[in-house]
Amino acid sequence: LTLLGIESSCDDTAAAVVRGTDILSSVVHTQTALHADFGGVVPEIAARAHAEKLDYCVEQALDDAGLRLEQLDGIAVTSGPGLIGGVLSGVMCAKGLAAATGLPLVGVNHLAGHALTPRLTDQLDYPYLMLLVSGGHCQFLIVQGHDSYQRIGGTIDDAPGEAFDKTARILGLPQPGGPSVEKAAQTGDAARFDLPRPLLHQPGCDMSFSGLKTAMLRARDRVIAEKGGLTAQDQADLSAGFQAAVSDILIEKTRRALAIYLALQPSCPAFAVAGGVAANSAIRQGLQALCAERGVQCIAPPLRLCTDNAAMIAYAGIERMQHGETDDMTLSARPRWPLDQMAAPMLGSGK
Ligand code: ATP
Ligand code: FE
Repeated sequence: LTLLGIESSCDDTAAAVVRGTDILSSVVHTQTALHADFGGVVPEIAARAHAEKLDYCVEQALDDAGLRLEQLDGIAVTSGPGLIGGVLSGVMCAKGLAAATGLPLVGVNHLAGHALTPRLTDQLDYPYLMLLVSGGHCQFLIVQGHDSYQRIGGTIDDAPGEAFDKTARILGLPQPGGPSVEKAAQTGDAARFDLPRPLLHQPGCDMSFSGLKTAMLRARDRVIAEKGGLTAQDQADLSAGFQAAVSDILIEKTRRALAIYLALQPSCPAFAVAGGVAANSAIRQGLQALCAERGVQCIAPPLRLCTDNAAMIAYAGIERMQHGETDDMTLSARPRWPLDQMAAPMLGSGK
């Protein structure tokens, strides 16, 4: 099957063409610059920018793939969760294309897109353990099928991506925060600041990141009070301390999640990480080392497939179509849509 994928749930407008597990094209138009002055994504600005850029991204994706719409088997679109205006723009665009061509329309859960990415990039059978760690989410899932997810723990407050972004703002580093904090951390001393690792020694796989955010703010204010400002070395040390704390939490909790998953005795145990924060090399390396120690295959998709993209949406759409699932023109945009309720009757209007 060859599908066009459309993604517009946050601040990236994206379109891609995927055939089976081959990515024929993947266009991502990021809005970072548009939101730079506002300290976060402004929903109204995002929705308008998606509406403006979607046609261009779709055309570009088709051009790059060397295909016309009529040569496709379907159109997959993120139908939630996310900023409602953006999701609506994408769903309207996909409906227009489906109506014009008669191609099947397939609504995709954005988180399922992230969670199935390791199957797009690697040979990976169900069930596998997934750490989905992104701008808005952080959860351990046992992925049992394209529409079957068992959540075994996750953040009880903020997501790490959001904490990276907040930390960058606190330290005066550019957005998105993940890459700039990671870069600053390279020359930093992680041991200089004593930062908390909430819930680290509590049983279970739940995590908390909001206390860490507050601790970062206090640590920065202490430095400023002492020295009157932040030097590049202060920024580096604070970044390194923050990254080490997030990484420690994610790795310790993954150790516990692996124990739960391995007790299910999967025949080829595999762990996969996805979402924007999975682009962080310190975190990737920590997870890879842990899996090597436990004899579990570890899959970390290439960076451009960790952050938001439409190839993952097209691929998740392919898996739905392979199961005979499509939607009709009543497909709606869902601002909230937890993965563990995927198979609930609300799922689109699929047959
Ligand atoms: P969600 O998928 O939860 O709806 P989202 O789509 O906004 O949220 P993603 O695009 O998956 O999230 O990820 C973006 C997040 O990843 C941002 O918070 C960004 O700071 C973070 N991120 C990107 N690169 C890195 C990195 N190298 N290290 C840490 N975090 C990173
Ligand atoms: Fe995302």
